[in-house]
Amino acid sequence: MLENLDKIRSKFSEELKAIDSNDKLEKLRVAFLGKKGLVTEELKNIKNLANDVKKVAGKELNILKNEIEAAIAQYQKTLEEMEYQKEIDNAEVYDYSIPSEKPVGTLHPISIVQKQIEDIFKTMGFVIEDGLEIQTEYNNFEAVNIPKNHPARDMQDTYYLENGQILKTHTSAAQNTIMKKYGAPNPGETLKVLFPGRCFRNENLDASHENTFFQLEGMMIGEDISISNLIYFMRVLLTEVFERDVKVRLRPGYFPFVEPGFELDINCEICGGDGCTTCKNTGWIELLPCGMIHPNVLSMGGIDPEKYTGFAFGLGLTRLAMMKYNIKDIRLFNGGNLKQLKQFVK
Ligand SMILES: [Zn+2]
Repeated sequence: MLENLDKIRSKFSEELKAIDSNDKLEKLRVAFLGKKGLVTEELKNIKNLANDVKKVAGKELNILKNEIEAAIAQYQKTLEEMEYQKEIDNAEVYDYSIPSEKPVGTLHPISIVQKQIEDIFKTMGFVIEDGLEIQTEYNNFEAVNIPKNHPARDMQDTYYLENGQILKTHTSAAQNTIMKKYGAPNPGETLKVLFPGRCFRNENLDASHENTFFQLEGMMIGEDISISNLIYFMRVLLTEVFERDVKVRLRPGYFPFVEPGFELDINCEICGGDGCTTCKNTGWIELLPCGMIHPNVLSMGGIDPEKYTGFAFGLGLTRLAMMKYNIKDIRLFNGGNLKQLKQFVK
């Protein structure tokens, strides 16, 4: 009896080696464990054995039965892996250059305006830089002349990470890094950089406030840069974006990173200046804080403020898109309603 089991065992392992499909594996299972299978037949025979060997034989047969079941289950996995590998080997190489048959995506209205402004400034010799969204407090505040305990910090409450870093509250957070990257311009040349980016503030949400919004900042540094350069670039920018004359006003504004500083407002395009919720009934929208870069900011960026001057402007990209497309509620941009967003795509 026990000799028989050994024969069955080696017969099984011999036949298993030749199996290359699930069908064959199933046939093998039936041949050994099925109703008339070799193992089953042996089980049936137990009752004919002498009492003293019955117990041992039963135990051994069960061990063999379990071995075979486990081997089959294991082999099934091996077959699946072989099958999978075959599919990979036979798969055609995917060609990413084939145009999609499904409708392609469209740009978000913010991206459209951003790209438009980038194109305008690129033709005027500006380089485009990316600013990090996660910033050190130093880059976001100290390096743009907002030391600890400065009141401006209260107005820019943001989200703090566990490691002490923050989500940047304004694109100015990139100024220091950019100045250090490019350094002071060569004699007779200027450094002109445009850096758009997503910013974050802990705001109470309403029609004109979001916790996530976009700004676009630019700066120009050189030996003879003045306010007239600033005004020139702002005028080009607004005319190109709105494709018509836009009423603007320039008034003194205080921002720690510029001296002198200005606030450029544009006439509210939504109510035409009569007053609405978007412009808080003033008829004007604060669009663009700007000014001459503060000497402290230049020197923290490694640029000699005795020798160089520069201007910087920070544009509310989200607000500009609201004005351009007549969008009354800022929350539409991050709302994820594709139907609403797609209507701005030309
Ligand atoms: Zn208005």
